[in-house]
Amino acid sequence: MNETFTKSKTTELPRIIMVGHEVINEVGNVCIRLHLEKPGLIISDEITKKIAGEKVEQILSDNGLDVHQMMITDANSDNISQVKDQIKELKANFVLGVGGGRPIDVAKCASHESNIPFLSIPTAASHDGIVSGRASISVDGKRKSLTAQTPLAVVADTNIIAQSPYRLLAAGCGDVVANITAVMDWKLAQRLKNEEFSSSASMLADLTGRFMLDNSDMIKPGIEDSAWYVAKALVSSGVAMSIAGSSRPASGSEHKFSHALDEIAEKPALHGEQCGVGAIMMMYLHGGDWMKIREALINIGAPTTAKRLGVGDDEVVRALTYAHKISPDRYTILGDNGLSHEAAENLARITQVI
Ligand SMILES: [Zn+2]
Repeated sequence: MNETFTKSKTTELPRIIMVGHEVINEVGNVCIRLHLEKPGLIISDEITKKIAGEKVEQILSDNGLDVHQMMITDANSDNISQVKDQIKELKANFVLGVGGGRPIDVAKCASHESNIPFLSIPTAASHDGIVSGRASISVDGKRKSLTAQTPLAVVADTNIIAQSPYRLLAAGCGDVVANITAVMDWKLAQRLKNEEFSSSASMLADLTGRFMLDNSDMIKPGIEDSAWYVAKALVSSGVAMSIAGSSRPASGSEHKFSHALDEIAEKPALHGEQCGVGAIMMMYLHGGDWMKIREALINIGAPTTAKRLGVGDDEVVRALTYAHKISPDRYTILGDNGLSHEAAENLARITQVI
């Protein structure tokens, strides 16, 4: 053992994470603490501008910060370009993404490409993108997961999140539960492909997923405590990804299934909903307790069937046979060759997805 030690690792984490009741009122202090130079640019959409965008603008103005508001219509390259142009025109020094998904994704990409920091202010807790460095962007009408940047700060107001449609919160739970199968896939890739593995990242992600599984009774509509648990769990998943330096701890075969369904289904469901259903099926392939995942999702009120996802049985089967082709470098239980049509159909039937 006289080899020279050559390992190195960079971990990029948010500097400030605030989760809780009416923490939105602290957004001005957060900007000041981070020495963010004005002007700033708030990105929202028609709905989230009213929910929180206007309030954020008011709070920042009250704190003497010069901010501008911009609305986007979709998370696509056109909107990203428009935000980048606006950043240039205003000479903006930071961006705030205010929304459930799309405004945050656009803010994350446009700020990344403009080399300025961004703050995440989620109005819903439907996926871990509110904390992670990855963005879901529509390319040629299909959703793609792109690398952007980790938020410099996250301000997650549970009072606002609790008022968002419950479907979004339930979807967030699906994205958290997906950690369990994602970590199993990662361990498999470490054993079979000698893939780099982080014990701390995998333990944090797995623990967060299992906590959600064991405490699914706590997630109920209209209760701020539920928003609190889900938002905190999504933050933990995001931190696990930051520690790993990739989405590996929170994205495995169940995410491949979800991305495949995004490409195949005529009308895909929410990301977290699809990942939850994917986690049931992938847990079956891993030989684990898939019924426990199914029961937890039913408890929460998240979909467990193709019908509830609003997709066709045939679309689920086709997505299962196609899933291994998504990010083929990321080895999972689906292997290099994926499932045959017959095996996919059996899997979906046994796990009562179709
Ligand atoms: Zn996800």
